[in-house]
Amino acid sequence: ESQLNPNYTFENFLEGDSNRLARNAAIAVANKPGGTSFNPLLIFGGVGLGKTHLAHAIGVDIKDKYPEKTVLYISAEKFTQQYIDSVKKNNRNDFIHFYQIIDVLIIDDAQFFSGKSGTQDVFFHIFNHLHQNGKQVILTSDKAPVDMQDIEQRLLSRFKWGLSAELQSPDFETRVSILENKLYRDGVDMPDEIIEYVAKHIKSNVRELEGAIISLIAQSSFNKKEITLNLAKDIVEKFVKNTKREVSIDYIQKVVSDYFQMDVSTLQSKTRKRHIVQARQLAMFFAKKYTKASLASIGSQIGQRDHATVLHACKTVDNLSSTDKQFRKYVEDLSKKLTL
Ligand code: ADP
Ligand code: MG
Repeated sequence: ESQLNPNYTFENFLEGDSNRLARNAAIAVANKPGGTSFNPLLIFGGVGLGKTHLAHAIGVDIKDKYPEKTVLYISAEKFTQQYIDSVKKNNRNDFIHFYQIIDVLIIDDAQFFSGKSGTQDVFFHIFNHLHQNGKQVILTSDKAPVDMQDIEQRLLSRFKWGLSAELQSPDFETRVSILENKLYRDGVDMPDEIIEYVAKHIKSNVRELEGAIISLIAQSSFNKKEITLNLAKDIVEKFVKNTKREVSIDYIQKVVSDYFQMDVSTLQSKTRKRHIVQARQLAMFFAKKYTKASLASIGSQIGQRDHATVLHACKTVDNLSSTDKQFRKYVEDLSKKLTL
């Protein structure tokens, strides 16, 4: 009836820096629907970052606390379809009336309204009616209101009345917690090393993160495969292959020189100054690690060096990262930047 998915709860929505504002605003709204200044509450962010989950969690929690309230979750796409049908069947007024008597209206993926002026118009009137009557409206969108295209100004200005809260990509710790929570709920044990490997390599989409761990669970329980790091690598690769950006040697040189605040030409120069030599060696090391180029080709692209120099650079970086803490930090920082 309310179209809510009871599995999408606040409890199962792990908190981290990336979602704290949105999650807490959602909880505040669920505690006092229509009674906070977060009306509407607009949750925005990229694909697979938890907008739908959080939208449901608000509804589920409100139904729990206020069973007498009517809560409706609907995607903007379905709302649009219903509206079009109502016009065809000549019962536009019934459609409007139905929505005007709801206490909590949750519209998912509001970016779908873009360019659909009839639907925007009807939604504008429903929104005003609900808002004036102290009813709660929750919207999600893949973009911030300022970046939404082809949405009427008067509707956009309504979107901005309340709070717009962004869901960002979760950091490493949050990704690990999300995976651990998922495994715990499924009653599955997995070595920390594997969990961390997956969390380290799948960064920008929680759905993919969960997808990879689900594949791992399936491989081990149905195919009776032992969950090893190699299996994890194979699976992760399938998930990130499509989204992975090809890293070029030029790009590596740019990132490394930016990081050390020097020009690419400085990084390539003949100087023996220690910090420049180190930057150059790091660029060579990452070129070896992240591209398929040969040592000779890497050398020729990074300041006309020969293959022995590149080999020496890779060894030096390996050694220094295990003996020098500061240097290890350079390697870690740069890895993150290059694989983002
Ligand atoms: P979106 O609507 O933004 O595309 P979803 O809400 O569908 O994303 O989330 C994708 C998946 O990731 C869902 O299975 C959801 O439960 C999960 N998820 C996202 N963020 C979190 C989080 N912070 N904690 C736990 N699970 C999360
Ligand atoms: Mg969604």
